[in-house]
Amino acid sequence: MSVELVCSVCGKPYNGGTDRNVCPSCGASIEPREDISPERKDLKELLLRGGNGEKGVWKYRAFFPGFEDIEPVTMEEGNTPLIHAKALGAAYGMGGLYLKNETANPSATYKDRFAALAISQYKHENASAVALGSAGNAGSAVAAYAAKAGIPCYVILPAGGVFARAQQAMAYGARFIRADGEVNDCIELIEKGVSRFGWKNACTTMLHNPLASEGYKTMVYEMFLQLGERLPDVIVCPIGGGILISKMYRACRELIALGLAEKMPRLVGVQAAGCPPVVWAIENGKRETPVWQNPATIAGSINDPVTFEGVTALHVIRASNGEAVAVTDDEIKEAMKLCARKEAVLAEPASAATLAAVLKLKDAGKIRAEETVVTIITGSALRDLPLFSDPGNEVPFVHPGNDAEMLAAMAHYQQ
Ligand SMILES: *Cc1c(COP(=O)(O)O)cnc(C)c1O
Ligand SMILES: [Zn+2]
Repeated sequence: MSVELVCSVCGKPYNGGTDRNVCPSCGASIEPREDISPERKDLKELLLRGGNGEKGVWKYRAFFPGFEDIEPVTMEEGNTPLIHAKALGAAYGMGGLYLKNETANPSATYKDRFAALAISQYKHENASAVALGSAGNAGSAVAAYAAKAGIPCYVILPAGGVFARAQQAMAYGARFIRADGEVNDCIELIEKGVSRFGWKNACTTMLHNPLASEGYKTMVYEMFLQLGERLPDVIVCPIGGGILISKMYRACRELIALGLAEKMPRLVGVQAAGCPPVVWAIENGKRETPVWQNPATIAGSINDPVTFEGVTALHVIRASNGEAVAVTDDEIKEAMKLCARKEAVLAEPASAATLAAVLKLKDAGKIRAEETVVTIITGSALRDLPLFSDPGNEVPFVHPGNDAEMLAAMAHYQQ
């Protein structure tokens, strides 16, 4: 695989060689160069046709440099619904609110769009084992695809993370290791294991996997068709390491370069108030993100004190005329409940954070009622069910045959 790499911000060619792919001039993330221009009628037609007919994200293989001749490992990831959230939108005073429901992916998060490519690439390279550090969802996604490919997979997660994510990875057969620290500490352990144990590094970071992370772009190609061949006015993404939002920008830029769309959507990056390095950097006019001290939030999937793709994430928010928003854990819980009740979608905290942010921006007049807004519902709250119930909210209990108890149970729900 010989792919030309370039800086995602300044565009300079990148010649690699190091473990971490970062632009030596500007510190931004690296991405493959793509040959995209209005002359590429083949790519344009491919997008309008909804892909080449292959399964899962592979239908857009032509947009993944380096994957031309790779045998796919797929579980038919992607193809997720774009739900017009009329009831939730009405509650927020918005007519064009959409949920890109990534919980419908095989391992219940959008990380499958990465894992399908990464594991296919490493299988092609005859990997003896893959390994990654993660907040949990990438661990589950890569473990699932590694299981499918028959490759051993090591997953290192922060000891304080959501244990249900680790259980899911272990269910797929992952070799799970807990680490004292945060996601960035886990990722550093993986970097050391690459030379020591011969692991292939399957972290989702563009720093480590600039080619496989292109898989996320397929969300934009899909929503473009689902909206009737147009891009939304606003795309709202949670930000952890900053890969997702960077790839949304890149995919939109491709559609514009091909002449399929005119205007770049405003990209909104959302973080938890307990760990908001990107929001802080935007508010303070910085080009780089600080390392956040004492990060704490229920949104474990975006509890990243180090923003690995920070320079690029900040760039795409500014270049798209977007926003960075922090939301509190209480606002997140409120949004989780409302989304479940109004739309029957179980959005995990990191995902529901996007809805809490939409409400804030709407109230602040930064999103207008008639705009088309797509929130990326990145992962499923089936692993976070206790967050939906209020402590102290008792569930009625009845002995069958005891009518008084049954009437009391009914009365409980009439209050
Ligand atoms: C990984 C993840 C994110 C954050 O994505 P980044 O690309 O790291 O910014 C958001 N939500 C969920 C559910 C995730 O698993
Ligand atoms: Zn650069």
